[in-house]
Amino acid sequence: MDVGLALRENGLRRTPQRVAVMHALQGGRALSAHEVHERARGECAELGLSTVYRTLVSLADAGLIDMIGQHEGEATYRLCSGHHHHHLVCRACRTVIELSRCDLSPIESEIAEDHDFEVDGHSLTFHGMCSACRAASGSRRRRATHSH
Ligand SMILES: [Zn+2]
Ligand SMILES: [Zn+2]
Ligand SMILES: [Zn+2]
Repeated sequence: MDVGLALRENGLRRTPQRVAVMHALQGGRALSAHEVHERARGECAELGLSTVYRTLVSLADAGLIDMIGQHEGEATYRLCSGHHHHHLVCRACRTVIELSRCDLSPIESEIAEDHDFEVDGHSLTFHGMCSACRAASGSRRRRATHSH
């Protein structure tokens, strides 16, 4: 992904801080501000944690990244595609899979009708364990049984 182009297309100026934060978020996992800071410092040494928080909020406002729930009390973010999607989140490794399938518009209309509410969007996140993490915890359990 061309980070500079993505910023420009979303009306944000290309700054070293924004570019470093976007690069840190590449890789598909949901990361907290602390984790982004840890990774982005290598690229942009003068980047402070408070700048990371501000940058994450402005990137999320511009629709370039998505907030994916919380990890240890901190909001986590992920670099996602621009089109509407839902999230499948592994609670062990925090890998996020984008689901482009959405069947919720009939439910939206029903809710709008039932509550006399003008619905203008929704977000949906499924939580669970990915196959790699299930395999890893399975082999841990097996090893534990063998040691007895
Ligand atoms: Zn997303
Ligand atoms: Zn996993
Ligand atoms: Zn949807």
